Amino acid sequence: MNTAKDRGAFRRQAGSGRIPLGECHGRTKIQARHWERLAVVYVRQSTPRQVQENVESTALQYQLARRAEDLGWRPDRVLVIDDDLGQSAQTATHRLGFQRLLAEVGLNHVGLVLGVEMSRLARSYTDWYQLLELCAVFGCLLADQDGVYDPNDYNDRLLLGLKGTMSEAELHVLRARMDQGRRNKAERGELFSRLPAGYVFLDSGAVALDPDQQVQAVVRLVFDKFSELGSARAVTRYLRQRQIALPLRPLNGPRCPPLEWRAATPEAVYAMLTHPMDAGAYVHGRRPVDAQRKLSGTSRRAQVAVPMEEWQVLLRDHLPAYISWDQYLANRERLRQNASSWETQGAPRQGAALLGGLLYCGRCGYRMQVHYVDQRHGYYRCSHSPRCEDLGPCPSLPVPGLDALVSRQVLRALEPAALEVSLQASEDLERERQRLHQHWQQQVERARHQAERARRQYEAVEPENRLVARHLEGQWEKALVHLRQQEEAYARFQQELPAALSRVDREAIRALAHDLPQVWDAPSTTPADRQVVIRHLIDRVRAQVQGTSEDVAVTISWKGGFVSQHQLLRSLGSYRQLGDYDRLIQRLNDLRNAGERALGIATQLNAEGFRPPRGEIFTGASVRTLLSRQGLSRLRTALECPEGCGPEDWWAGDLARELGVSVNGVKGWIRRGWVHGRRVRGRCGYWVVWADAEELERLRRLRDQRQTPYPPELTTPKARPTGTTKEGKRGLKERRKKAR
Ligand SMILES: [Zn+2]
Repeated sequence: MNTAKDRGAFRRQAGSGRIPLGECHGRTKIQARHWERLAVVYVRQSTPRQVQENVESTALQYQLARRAEDLGWRPDRVLVIDDDLGQSAQTATHRLGFQRLLAEVGLNHVGLVLGVEMSRLARSYTDWYQLLELCAVFGCLLADQDGVYDPNDYNDRLLLGLKGTMSEAELHVLRARMDQGRRNKAERGELFSRLPAGYVFLDSGAVALDPDQQVQAVVRLVFDKFSELGSARAVTRYLRQRQIALPLRPLNGPRCPPLEWRAATPEAVYAMLTHPMDAGAYVHGRRPVDAQRKLSGTSRRAQVAVPMEEWQVLLRDHLPAYISWDQYLANRERLRQNASSWETQGAPRQGAALLGGLLYCGRCGYRMQVHYVDQRHGYYRCSHSPRCEDLGPCPSLPVPGLDALVSRQVLRALEPAALEVSLQASEDLERERQRLHQHWQQQVERARHQAERARRQYEAVEPENRLVARHLEGQWEKALVHLRQQEEAYARFQQELPAALSRVDREAIRALAHDLPQVWDAPSTTPADRQVVIRHLIDRVRAQVQGTSEDVAVTISWKGGFVSQHQLLRSLGSYRQLGDYDRLIQRLNDLRNAGERALGIATQLNAEGFRPPRGEIFTGASVRTLLSRQGLSRLRTALECPEGCGPEDWWAGDLARELGVSVNGVKGWIRRGWVHGRRVRGRCGYWVVWADAEELERLRRLRDQRQTPYPPELTTPKARPTGTTKEGKRGLKERRKKAR
């Protein structure tokens, strides 16, 4: 019935009703308009395994093409869509074949859709009814082994709907049964998907520690180093610097699948540190699949980690362990604290500040953050300040003073145990070196074994079998080269780092115990090292500034609960912020009037316990600056009035004093052209500014102006009258005398 003539005969017979009902079941629904379009056979198996095993089912699906021909379609008008073989998707999103089928129906190219069981075409209500609706609109028929259905026919539609419902229910029952089975197995602690590094399956299906000693040694090394260094990144750095790779068995299965070694990454180290199996616990449901993410079709992983309380199964002490459960919990907490977030400390960083993550504002209780001015200098700023509107901003603290105070306290705390610490340090150092040597020996041993194995394989082959012999010879050579490289690398390592500490090394370490500050300040000690030591000793530091003064109360909460109080004098921006400013100025005046010179005044002030806003003590230079600002410096009496001066000419310093601004401020105005200023010829550095009463008034308003940009009327100087006068010279002299 493949030719047009046959089809015509069939149609005539069907029309006359001469064909028995059993044979023509469904055929009356097929019209010429259906034959004109394609018959599409949709073939699908969920998984590659089904494709492999359900050969019969797949063959049955392909046989539907024959059925289409029986129903009157020419072979070249039958299209088989099998793009979805091996695709398991509960909706049509990832099934390109099904989408193609919908597209073809929507383009009105399809007269008949065939599948083994109609309702299994689609896997969910949404897809099934979408197909059904589309077929109804475009007058397309559906067919399976049982019959042909017209979605526009009431009875057929009812049947198709029912079939869809049954199929979905069947799917649900199957899945529920499977899930229950999995859950039961998980609750017994026997369901495994992947094993972490350091574990293998035994033939019996049980899980055991990896029999490879080097694998075990590396896993233990990762945990030990984490306890010491405190962050996954630091451990990764350590492993990479010493060329220690992480073990991995990419295939899962019994009889120890082949072992691979891969360069350490922070992610791999993090995964090792957070896997509960290393603490001997069996866990199921640690990373369930997020349906929303899975549907979204983006590249994000569909699995998401959930908190420990939401793990479906947790059986402690169920498997052999590398670390204790308490150690596992401590590691988790440490990693959580390392994250950069609002409520965690953050990991030790390379920045110079030592108290990042540990320091809290004494006024509002929020954490203080480090802000760097350059690589070495910075200040601690209260993180709450920008949000604290009614309290006003909390004062910031410079890093050096506070760090020095805490460092002193830490060194003092370490002092009694210094000798013990140094002995422990040399022991640790020796143990670590032995460990590294052992690692290298194992590397060489492994390479030697591989070379030996390659040799045996080569010798076992018949020499006449040149093709195989050549390949094995190449393998053997490669293994020998690898062995030589490993031996050379080990020799180099031995040269650099002998296994045992020499007597000189031991003496040096013991000597360092007597001079901890030197070790602390040594250039080879990084800020991160110091931060790690501080975090081992101190829980938190609280700093409270007393009002706006230079006094800071520092409270150190040590590990173990002891709390110590300290006082710190912070650096201030100006003299006026000093608590004893008035007393200081009074004393300065007295000493000046008594005829003391700057250096003498500095010594006297230091002796009386006064302190400048920055730095530890007064010096001659700082006193001279202060005297100058107070208008108490010796005046330049020898200075003659320059040529071309008018009565309204001022020395820059005199004008600054008159207006109550700094000399640099006046010089800034000159530079910007906001006042008439000029340098006096022959007297480098002395500036003369012209300003009459009106100009003085303008400059006062300019001084008081807080908003920028400044209005032009404040920054434009008045035109200056020309001419040199004797009164001008006299004016300068007069004012100078007055100031004196
Ligand atoms: Zn604060």
